[in-house]
Amino acid sequence: MNDEQRLRYSRHLLLNEFGEDAQERLLASHALVIGAGGLGSAALLYLASSGVGRITICDGDRVDLTNLQRQVVHRLESVGKPKAASAAGTLAGLNPDIRVEPLEERAGPERIATLVRGADVVLDCSDNFATRHAINRACVAARRPLVSGAGIRFDGQIAVFDLRREGAPCYHCLFAEDASSMEERCATMGVFAPLVGIIGTFQALEAIKLLAGIGETLAGRLVLFDALSSRWHEVKLARDVHCRVCGDARAAA
Ligand SMILES: [Zn+2]
Repeated sequence: MNDEQRLRYSRHLLLNEFGEDAQERLLASHALVIGAGGLGSAALLYLASSGVGRITICDGDRVDLTNLQRQVVHRLESVGKPKAASAAGTLAGLNPDIRVEPLEERAGPERIATLVRGADVVLDCSDNFATRHAINRACVAARRPLVSGAGIRFDGQIAVFDLRREGAPCYHCLFAEDASSMEERCATMGVFAPLVGIIGTFQALEAIKLLAGIGETLAGRLVLFDALSSRWHEVKLARDVHCRVCGDARAAA
């Protein structure tokens, strides 16, 4: 680290549990963030400010006025522009010390698999089940840790699937693909602005711990947050041995 970096990250360096080695690991790491909406906005700001050395932002949407209520990485002048480029512009103004790669595309399963292989940690900040399952499959195949977040109305959730570990549960163990779960979208259901900030920030916190190699992560746990009553619940996750993505049956699937 140079003198400017020592100054910029000095409040991390003061932490006994963090220190110079963890900051160096963070600066040498690569995070893939899929989705630059409400969750991605909060996550990206903290990943960048904390000094994650390389950040790839993948989003095929453009900024809309209705996004600005909660997607805090975007500015009014970005309305109509691609979200990935808008987010990258904000991050460049915050921390030019890191490398930010905006991908203005709605990535399909094959593209996601390629992107995941090149990353050290993956943050799922997407808003649809097809993408969530594609990200999970890619993380299982490439054994990359997955930090999964979601938020709709007043309900938020976050889980970490540390797929580097043998026997770790995956997203599919928890949410089956063929489940008739209705896809809930912000456009029709509404979403409480600070909720996605809390969950997105929590995703950044977990990703940074995974990359820096500090503390205990949420791996194997699902945390639910009810913003209306300000209550947190925690559920222990178990691997589904019959899971078609990570389970013993996958070879037959
Ligand atoms: Zn699984």
